[in-house]
Amino acid sequence: DAAVTAASQAFGNWSRRLANDRAAQLRRWFDFIIAHQEDLAKLLTMEQGKPISEARTEIQYAASFVEFYAEEARRIHGEMLPSHRHDARVLVMRQPIGVCAAITPWNFPAAMITRKCAPALAAGCTVVLKPAPETPLTALALAELAQRAELPRGVLNVVTGDAVAIGGKWCDDPRVRFLGFTGSTEVGKQLMRQAAATVKKVALELGGNAPFIVFADADLEAAVEGAIAAKFRNMGQTCICANRLFVHDSIHDAFVQRLAKRVGQLTVGNGLDEQTTQGPLITPEAVEKVQSLLQDAVASGAEIVTGGRPHRLGRTFFEPTVLTQVSGAMEITRQEIFGPVAPVTRFSSEAEVIAMANDTIYGLAAYFYGRDLGQAFRVAEQLEYGMVGINSTALGAATVPFGGVKQSGIGREGSHHGIDEYLESKYVLVGGL
Ligand code: ADP
Repeated sequence: DAAVTAASQAFGNWSRRLANDRAAQLRRWFDFIIAHQEDLAKLLTMEQGKPISEARTEIQYAASFVEFYAEEARRIHGEMLPSHRHDARVLVMRQPIGVCAAITPWNFPAAMITRKCAPALAAGCTVVLKPAPETPLTALALAELAQRAELPRGVLNVVTGDAVAIGGKWCDDPRVRFLGFTGSTEVGKQLMRQAAATVKKVALELGGNAPFIVFADADLEAAVEGAIAAKFRNMGQTCICANRLFVHDSIHDAFVQRLAKRVGQLTVGNGLDEQTTQGPLITPEAVEKVQSLLQDAVASGAEIVTGGRPHRLGRTFFEPTVLTQVSGAMEITRQEIFGPVAPVTRFSSEAEVIAMANDTIYGLAAYFYGRDLGQAFRVAEQLEYGMVGINSTALGAATVPFGGVKQSGIGREGSHHGIDEYLESKYVLVGGL
């Protein structure tokens, strides 16, 4: 409540500032983040577990949203539309929506924060932020740096603690005009219902079940590297992780052999060791979930090619795993695995694989590898996903619209689309001319 009061009191001055001032303020925050990037990366690895090299990449990625939206702050503009009367003119103003609540997950403890806060602040909104209880420290460090960059008091407020209580309070508070959430589909639906009470605008980035398709004419090396990146980044704990691999019959065995070899080369260990490519999962429960999905798949006929067990390092570590003979009836293809398991399914025709790829409630990211240009367009158009990577898995950037369709969410983050979420249109009729 105190955070919302502070954000609401700060809104007037912040929203009235010149765009140039807000841009300069955000740029200072960016400079502080960059100056402290190594400390932030270490903190992130220590609280979340991802390999330090990935943490460094995430901090740069997180900072890039602040830099991009510092620039974008200057480019918010309205419209003058054709008038329906000779004696009047029609203006459309773009104004900041107000106090924005942001609720973020633990898998990207820095980037999910700046991807929401930077466009909100650039637009002239103020923010109340609740980071995930697993990773509050990166959030607090980012806020500390915002304070050192002299962001005015009340503009960015971080509250840690009981998720249900904080989420409930902010959803009920009419002063909060927007709710931006990244997390599970289940909690997203609940927050959407709660936000309905005060008709808040919502942007939701929810779960995924990404298909990763390898067509017969694909560059196999590139496809294997793509699969490693899309499946094993962050130990498989990203919403755009390849969750189902579909490989054409004619290259299935060769692909699986190469993939298993590469997976065998991954180094599991302490994220702070420079050699580590796979850290721990977030909690022991995450390991149990992966194990239970694997057991269910194996009981229904799937075969483990490599890995398949909790790692000898214990507790939260799991062996990077490749699974074949996987069918669409298995639970592992219905749920987000959120762990280092790559389930491979064969296919024989384009129509068949598109149908399998779309057979899910989710629609966040999809990937495919192939060299036929006609097929590339056909398949990209038919995949019911918000993002499609063709011969590349590097979807994330501040300059692109990130987001999903179906039950993967509403709204886009990043690019000029990302700032639109934080703006309202106001139609002004100027009459009596
Ligand atoms: P994940 O599977 O990534 O942990 P969650 O949806 O459980 O996904 O969590 C994402 C964020 O949502 C976290 O910050 C978490 O604390 C928060 N959260 C979870 N449940 C609720 C709730 N009922 N109300 C508000 N926030 C919640």
